[in-house]
Amino acid sequence: MDPRRPLYLDYHATTPVDPRVLDAMLPFFSERFGNAASRQHAYGWEAQKAVDDARGEVAALIGASPGEIVFTSGATESNNLAIKGAAQWLRDRGDHIITVATEHKSVLDSCKRLESEGCRVTVLGVNAEGFIDLDELRAAITDRTVLVSVMAANNEIGVIQPLAAIGAIARERGVLFHTDAAQAAGKIPIDVAAMGVDLLSLTGHKYYGPKGAGALYVRRAKPKLKLACQIDGGGHENGLRSGTLNVPGVVGLGRAAAICRETLPEESARLRRLRDRLLAGLRRMDGVRVNGPEGDRRLPHNLHVSVDAIEGEALLMALGDLAVSTGSACSSGSQAPSHVLQAIGAVNPPSPPASARQGDVAASIRFGLGRTTTEEEIDYAIDRVTTVVRSLRSRRRPDERAKSDG
Ligand SMILES: *Cc1c(COP(=O)(O)O)cnc(C)c1O
Repeated sequence: MDPRRPLYLDYHATTPVDPRVLDAMLPFFSERFGNAASRQHAYGWEAQKAVDDARGEVAALIGASPGEIVFTSGATESNNLAIKGAAQWLRDRGDHIITVATEHKSVLDSCKRLESEGCRVTVLGVNAEGFIDLDELRAAITDRTVLVSVMAANNEIGVIQPLAAIGAIARERGVLFHTDAAQAAGKIPIDVAAMGVDLLSLTGHKYYGPKGAGALYVRRAKPKLKLACQIDGGGHENGLRSGTLNVPGVVGLGRAAAICRETLPEESARLRRLRDRLLAGLRRMDGVRVNGPEGDRRLPHNLHVSVDAIEGEALLMALGDLAVSTGSACSSGSQAPSHVLQAIGAVNPPSPPASARQGDVAASIRFGLGRTTTEEEIDYAIDRVTTVVRSLRSRRRPDERAKSDG
């Protein structure tokens, strides 16, 4: 632990580039700077070879074949290309898409854009743990439906959707299935073939690769899937995404995928143990509630809790030595609750306890654990949160305290 900087527990926001990934990338900035599209000389061939290798590594991470990987600038772009590209390409066949209330903004806003262009969009709700209802999904599919977009794992509450079941429903009804796997890729096993996924978005900076490099998996086999491209130009990436490839970024994306694939079983078990230790430690306090499911149905490195009888903003300020994402789950607080917490109903109880002050009902904290997180760091985090919560609660007036503290 570096005492000069806050302890980083925000690995859902981004991850550092693994030193092995950086080593693999560095030569491609300078000595091996060729354009992967230059077919006439060794500089181009060298870059092309590195890109091919990376394509293979990214494909292997998700059970795809190399020809099904389109390199992009990240998951935002991949989501845009998948959703707009599929809906626009299939416009003659239908005009209805289905997504979920807890999706990333890049999915929800791509759908909104299509809605403004005349598509119809159904936004499925989720239950209190954040899962979609498969019967509701089945019922939402019509003859006009062309695409279902459901994220693999949520970036706030870590809930893992039942991908294989969703894929089976989509396949049975002849509808494309896109999944935003930005948080899942490299963290939990994914097999696009077994799960019936047609389109999958991922991004390097969520799995120890570089920022600004991502990919979209586009199913090729039986029949080959087509998309309306969103960036026109030189026809790179099979005409699906024009623009000179970011070769160092692509190399990093590939190397990071290979490391994740090698270490996934061990690393996810280690992180799950640490996460469970964190939860057990926090639960020694009263009024700690988990948002999202417990156990194996959430990302192993994710914890999201609401802490009762705390003002969100005060908690955020007092936890300055932890780099976590804190948001108020309280609708009277200065921060609006996230659309994910709203969707699972983890906002203010309908009638706040009489002891509650404005903005004083519950604060929420998202913890994201990562490759270098240690047990010592987890114990430090437990200690810091506990100390801060005790101190904030003890500042409340005794009549307020009587009802909510233990
Ligand atoms: C981070 C994230 C994105 C956006 O990825 P970028 O590569 O930063 O554009 C999309 N979806 C989810 C679920 C994410 O966590």
